[in-house]
Amino acid sequence: MFKGILIQKDAQGYRAQLQEMEEENLPEGEVLLEIAYSTINYKDALAITGFGPVVRRFPLVPGIDFSGTVLASKDPRYQEGDQVLLNGFGVGEHHWGGLAQRAQVQADWLLPLPKEFSPWQAMAIGTAGYTAMLSILALEKFGVTPEQGEIIVTGAGGGVGGIAVMILAHLGYRVVAASGRPALRDYLLELGAVEIMDRALLAAPGKPLGKERWAGAVDVVGGPVLANVCATTRYAGVVTACGLAGGMNWPATVAPFILRGVTLAGIDSVQAPTQLREEAWRRLARDLDVERLQGMSREISLSEAIPVAKALLEGSVRGRVVVNVNK
Ligand code: NDP
Repeated sequence: MFKGILIQKDAQGYRAQLQEMEEENLPEGEVLLEIAYSTINYKDALAITGFGPVVRRFPLVPGIDFSGTVLASKDPRYQEGDQVLLNGFGVGEHHWGGLAQRAQVQADWLLPLPKEFSPWQAMAIGTAGYTAMLSILALEKFGVTPEQGEIIVTGAGGGVGGIAVMILAHLGYRVVAASGRPALRDYLLELGAVEIMDRALLAAPGKPLGKERWAGAVDVVGGPVLANVCATTRYAGVVTACGLAGGMNWPATVAPFILRGVTLAGIDSVQAPTQLREEAWRRLARDLDVERLQGMSREISLSEAIPVAKALLEGSVRGRVVVNVNK
């Protein structure tokens, strides 16, 4: 038996609850794992609350990330006792995920835990941090450098945004953090932002083109915020888009792309190829200040995961949340 969160949808409705489960009910997979830590990303919060159509089969254990130890493996790449991590690949969506003490997954979905990080730190990073790094790799791929000017990061009070601010500042960029929470000012300056912008300035539908300001942008919000960021990006600047915290639709025109040569780079962490994941984790090991990461993260128990998921969607969670599944 092991403990985990189970999401069910039946005549009694959609619900998530902490309960005991049997190992024989785990889905098929080549590697059986003892999970140490998981985390609450935006997608996990949607899955747990049912506010977004994330869960694609029932019953399901949520949790798109985990770190842990191999208990048994049918794949020669992994041996009993190996420390590993997992981000995405549909785990926590259509395959049982990390918010439990056990998992069974395909070997291809795992990465060896980088030696620079503890299992706890790997989950303080989680999909949020790995996606922040994918966004930064995209800025670099399309030629953005610190000399070119300011970078705006939206949703900076959350997980992806906070880690993006921290890494970009470390890399020498002038980072403007956009946030809807004035109370986070000191926290965002501490992460390395040089200026805080009120989210409200970007939240209303704007003009097709505005005054050019950003050399690059990491957007996690979508909606009108993404449209306004594109409209105020400088000639040949680059905007990465990974999220929809502010809406799936965006009231935009093609003007920034066809008149200013702005590049809009889409970011997907779930199906990203292994080579790109390895590169992102290598760069996280090089460019992330683990002490600051610790400062922006807090640990909760498995029993707190459900209320914290609700709080995250209400916009009251700051930074990253690590779930100790054995507490
Ligand atoms: P968090 O909840 O930690 O952060 C989201 C932040 O967005 C909030 O802290 C808040 O920042 C801001 N925000 C929330 N609601 C709104 C709103 N209605 N309008 C404008 N801003 C809002 O989530 P994550 O960092 O885990 O994820 C961020 C986004 O990125 C999500 O949409 C998620 O689905 C997406 N994502 C996508 C991935 C991919 O592979 N494409 C991978 C990982 C995440 P503040 O209060 O500072 O304004």
